[in-house]
Amino acid sequence: MSVSDVGASISCAACRATLRSGGRDALSVLLVGRLRIPVVGCDDHLDRFATTCALGGDGSTDLLDHRPAGGIPCPSCRLAPRRPEQAIVPVGDGAVAVVACPSHRDEVVDRFNSGARARQQLPTDLPFDDERDRAE
Ligand SMILES: [Zn+2]
Ligand SMILES: [Zn+2]
Repeated sequence: MSVSDVGASISCAACRATLRSGGRDALSVLLVGRLRIPVVGCDDHLDRFATTCALGGDGSTDLLDHRPAGGIPCPSCRLAPRRPEQAIVPVGDGAVAVVACPSHRDEVVDRFNSGARARQQLPTDLPFDDERDRAE
């Protein structure tokens, strides 16, 4: 899914607004274990994204609404907000954009998917399911 598809598929207006803005003002940083991942979304869905990531691994997660004092160690991730490439991850009726280099992006998306499966207690590798998530 690309940013231009965002309006059609995301029902959360706050997520749509932050994603359409390009994320410069809305950028948060998700701490996942040793990773620091720039993410964009509304507060509710970012929080949910972080909570789900926490379920997907043994490290805790935290969400900063500013750049961490030590900066973001990966040069690609640090530059990412200036580039259009990002992954849009559906989170319930909203979505979160992961604005990171491909390897960090895959890592956090994998972690989110693991967390979503753990939350739903599904043993198999099913894609994230909107309806099931909403019914929790
Ligand atoms: Zn939202
Ligand atoms: Zn990176």
